[in-house]
Amino acid sequence: MSKRYTITAALPYTNGPIHIGHLAGVYVPADIYSRYLRLTGNDVAFICGSDEHGVPITLKAKKEGVTPQDIVDKYHAIIKASFEEFGISFDNYSRTSAKIHHETASEFFKTLYDKNEFVEEVSEQLYDEEANQFLADRFVIGTCPKCGYEEAYGDQCENCGTSHNATDLINPKSAITGNTPTLKKTKHWFLPLNKHEEFLTEWILKGHKKDWKPNVYGQVKSWIDDGLRPRAVTRDLDWGIPVPVEGGEGKVLYVWFDAPIGYISSTIEWAEREGKNWEDYWKDENTTLVHFIGKDNIVFHCIIFPSMLKAEGTYILPENVPANEFLNLEGNKLSTSKNWAVWLPDYLNDFPNQQDVLRYALTANAPETKDNDFTWKDFQARNNNELVAIFGNFINRVVVLTNKYYDGVVPEPSEYSQVDSETLTELQAYPAVLASSIERYRFREGSQELMNLARLGNKYLADEEPWKTIKTDEDRTKTVMFVALQIATALSVLCEPFLPFTSNKLKGILRSEDHSWDDIPKKDILLPAGHTIQTGKPELLFSKIEDSDIQKQLDKLEANKKANEAANKSVEPQKEEITFDDFTKLDLRVGTILEAEKMPKTKKLLVLKVDTGIDVRTIVSGIAESFKPEEVIGKRVTVLVNLAPRKLRGVESQGMILMTEDKNGDLVFVNPSIDGVNNGLKIS
Ligand SMILES: [Zn+2]
Repeated sequence: MSKRYTITAALPYTNGPIHIGHLAGVYVPADIYSRYLRLTGNDVAFICGSDEHGVPITLKAKKEGVTPQDIVDKYHAIIKASFEEFGISFDNYSRTSAKIHHETASEFFKTLYDKNEFVEEVSEQLYDEEANQFLADRFVIGTCPKCGYEEAYGDQCENCGTSHNATDLINPKSAITGNTPTLKKTKHWFLPLNKHEEFLTEWILKGHKKDWKPNVYGQVKSWIDDGLRPRAVTRDLDWGIPVPVEGGEGKVLYVWFDAPIGYISSTIEWAEREGKNWEDYWKDENTTLVHFIGKDNIVFHCIIFPSMLKAEGTYILPENVPANEFLNLEGNKLSTSKNWAVWLPDYLNDFPNQQDVLRYALTANAPETKDNDFTWKDFQARNNNELVAIFGNFINRVVVLTNKYYDGVVPEPSEYSQVDSETLTELQAYPAVLASSIERYRFREGSQELMNLARLGNKYLADEEPWKTIKTDEDRTKTVMFVALQIATALSVLCEPFLPFTSNKLKGILRSEDHSWDDIPKKDILLPAGHTIQTGKPELLFSKIEDSDIQKQLDKLEANKKANEAANKSVEPQKEEITFDDFTKLDLRVGTILEAEKMPKTKKLLVLKVDTGIDVRTIVSGIAESFKPEEVIGKRVTVLVNLAPRKLRGVESQGMILMTEDKNGDLVFVNPSIDGVNNGLKIS
């Protein structure tokens, strides 16, 4: 029974590349689901695109001194490439700066406007007098009115997930200048969510109590219970889709109004290219719409977007919104700004052609019901103990033995033993078992069932021992190898949603014809006797990941953490102004350290003999924790030579050597880096 599906995956925001948290939370589960639906013969539109509007992009552009278009062009290309490299099988990947999207979103807004679905209101909004700009969304930071988190954004609190208006923030501050904003009158259009409360209660709270994930249902319920209020869907901003009605000059659609419409415009773009009717995928009651998102997007996909669709009147509503919780990394929250992440381009660089390993590790440990932790140790264990030791080992034995005993030709079986029959019956049950997990959005469970099928094959071979029977019973060996080859073929089909690259490789090794999901319980023979598989040395599906590879990743994270801490170290404020005369009082010279020894009974002090060009003098310097004496001999340095001498631990120090700190907080010399600068030269 073929059905039509529209599957959407959250539009990634184009202010940076994507990391494993995005992949685990949204894109891998959505891809498993879409691939499974296609394999089972359904009509699928798997839709996504880049979300390219909104305040963070304008802030990033300002910071980097480029245009917002430059930012979105750069990251759209990077993100799109990552998805392709990881086998995320979108039918269309568009972008919200595309003309088709501007037109679709504009039209959508106009329809609601014409139907009087908005409330038009002149209200006082936060305004930054110095930046000459209204403040909304991420332009303003303040205390969350619900949970008290002090760094909540103007549209949403990242701590408790509440969505609010910027004017609700307690103690707001401009993200541009740091100033306290004033209030200024401006006209905006609001979507009266309160008007849709009854419909949302009926549709979600009553209609989806059983089939929606408890984390999603619970969040929606708490918002509805709190009472919904009108939400502004326009902004005073110049980056975005212009408000297409009278009085909308200088204003754009709120990014969260236009972004979900991106699913629709991306579908239109695809349908036009493929010669399909896009409305079948969005307006036909028989189509199933599913949104894959992370938990921070629940309010927009379960409250705001459905209210928009309902107000428009001709669209279907999502059947489910299986939002995931968050993935952490080595015990800490993933963070783009703190560079605490595993970026997909970096992963591929370090683990080339091992996309499936990451897909598998992320799925086996997916944050489906609670936040979960990604660790490199777990990643290594999933690869070495499961993919290599079970799946890969089984396939390798089957292929090697088939080549060795039968020159790669599938042997003719004799009568099945009871074990053979039971094994094949068990095999034929797997499609239904996996389907049940996938259809209930339990991809973690599904990945473990898949591994159980590989275990079945592994155990079968270990018990039947064809490498022993080959010496005693030729017929029995042929039957065992025949059964094992059927399991291998079934694996090549059933692993596709989870491990698409492996599936392809394995199908190539077996040279098997294309089987659908439903062929496995139906067909008694998947790989017939007489068929020839690939001969020669078989390609390994997976390879062991060494401890040193894992240590490298851990070291990299540690280095990122240190660099980030150093970058965020607050810079001391500038000192009081001095005159030029004050400066010229300092006599700074280039010098060379000739001798160095530790000051006895101290931790920090080195006693140095320094050639200053004027003389060779003793300087006591507090650098012993950063340098051993032998490391500094011969170093070129900058010396303040006219500092009044002072005694340190009984040794007179006649000057001072200039130092600064590196990003790890270690001391470094301030020294002339060019050769041929003589000692004694003045620094001015
Ligand atoms: Zn909060």
